[in-house]
Amino acid sequence: MERTNAWKKYTKEEDKKVVFDFAEGYRKFLSENKTERECCSFFEEQARVAGFQKLEDVIAAGTALKAGDKVYAVNKKKEMAAFVIGKRPLSEGMHILGAHIDSPRLDLKQNPLYEDTDMAMLDTHYYGGVKKYQWVTLPLALHGVVVKKDGSVVNVNVGEKADDPVFGVSDLLIHLADEQMEKKASKVVEGEDLNVLIGSIPGAGEEEKERVKANILEILCKEYDIEEEDFLSAEIEVVPAGEARDYGFDRSMIMGYGHDDRVCAYPSYKAIEQSTDVEYTSVCLLVDKEEIGSVGATGMHSRFFENTVAELMALTGETSDLQFRRALTNSKVLSSDVSAAFDPNYPSVMEKKNAAYFGRGLVFNKYTGARGKSGSNDASAEYVAELRKVMDDADVSFQTSELGKVDAGGGGTIAYILGNLDMQVIDSGVAVLNMHAPWEIISKVDLYEAYRGYVAFLESK
Ligand code: MN
Ligand code: MN
Repeated sequence: MERTNAWKKYTKEEDKKVVFDFAEGYRKFLSENKTERECCSFFEEQARVAGFQKLEDVIAAGTALKAGDKVYAVNKKKEMAAFVIGKRPLSEGMHILGAHIDSPRLDLKQNPLYEDTDMAMLDTHYYGGVKKYQWVTLPLALHGVVVKKDGSVVNVNVGEKADDPVFGVSDLLIHLADEQMEKKASKVVEGEDLNVLIGSIPGAGEEEKERVKANILEILCKEYDIEEEDFLSAEIEVVPAGEARDYGFDRSMIMGYGHDDRVCAYPSYKAIEQSTDVEYTSVCLLVDKEEIGSVGATGMHSRFFENTVAELMALTGETSDLQFRRALTNSKVLSSDVSAAFDPNYPSVMEKKNAAYFGRGLVFNKYTGARGKSGSNDASAEYVAELRKVMDDADVSFQTSELGKVDAGGGGTIAYILGNLDMQVIDSGVAVLNMHAPWEIISKVDLYEAYRGYVAFLESK
C-alpha cells in the first residue's frame, strides 16, 4: 500500500511555515551540538527554562511529586531522562520516547600527539560504524573536554567559528593512487591511517627533536592551560566542521552532521516540553553509546533509567518493588532511531513495498535486525494496531519499513533493551540519506511529522 506525501498537507504558505520554523530550530541545534555532552547540556538547559526541576533537587527538598510536575535527571553529563508526571500512578505505566545522542565520529586516542616529517598529528580511534574513506579531505572540528588532575574541566570547541582554524585527515593524490584504487572499499583508508594534521611550524627551542609538536604544546598550554599528559583524561571528538544547511532548491531537506539520532532526540524532547496534563507519565530518554552497542554507564544497558524511575516512584508514594516492576511492564515505548531512506541511486538494496521514503512521515519499523531478524525487538501486532489508531486519529503521516532488503545487511537499536524490561516497544523515527556519513540528509516534513507523532503518543490514553 502507498502512503501519500506529507508535504501535501502543508500546501498553504502559513502551514508550510510552521514546518520550516520547526526545522530551523532543529538546524540550529544540530549545528551547535555535535557531541553527546553538548546535546545533553543543550537539552538540560532547555528543560530548566521550560520549568523542569532537577531530580536531585526534588529529592534534597523532600517534596512529593504530583500530576503535572516536570522533572529531569542527567547521568554523567551524557544521558538525560525528562518526565512529566501523569494523572495515573506510575505503576500503570509510562509513555516513553527513547532516542540516542551519540553519533559516529573519530575520537582522539589517549596518547594522540606525535610529529612526523615536521607535521604535528593527532592519532584517532573511530567510534561507531563508519565508511572510513568518507572521513578524509573534509574540514573537521575538535569538540570535547580535557579533565585535569585537579578535577577542572577544559572545554574544547575549535573549527566551528568562521575565523577558527579547521583540521583534517589527508588522502592520497589520484596521481599516485594506482595501488590504493585497486583495494576494496574497507581497506582504501584504514583505521590506523585516520590521523589528523594540526600544525607545521617548528618552535624556537634549541633541541632539534620534534619542534613542531613542541610548538603545538606551547599553543595548547597558552590557550587552554593543558599539557601533553592531560590528553590521558580527555574526551575529544573529531567531527565535521560547519553548520547544518538547508538542502535543495525548495529547501525541503537539511544536510548536517549527526542526524543519527539527533533528528529523533530533538522532536522527542520538543514533544515532552509541551506535554502537560497527560494521563500516563511522559518520558523522554536520551541515551549515549548506541553506536557502539548501548554499553557502559551511559548507554541503554545501564541501570540509570530504572534507578531514576525508582527515585520518582519514591517521590510519588509508590515504594514497593512490585509497583516498580509494574511501572516497567505496563510501559509503552517509541524507540526512535533513524531509518534508511530509499535512495534512487541505490535501489537494489531496498524492497520498495517495505522501504522508508522522504516526505512520507514518521517511520515505524516493526522489526530491525539482520540475517532473519536477529537482534530485533519485533513489536507485537496488537501494539502496532494501537499506534496506527493513535497516528490516524491525530492525522500524523506515517509509513512502515524495513532496513533494506532481506539479507542486504541490517542493524540494531536500543529497542530490544527496553523490550527486555517487558515493555511494549516499537522502532520508530525519521528516514535519513547518507546514514553514518559525515553529512547526512533528512526531510523537514518527516521531522515535523515525527514531532506530531510523538506528541500524539504522549497524549494517548
Ligand atoms: Mn542511530
Ligand atoms: Mn547509527
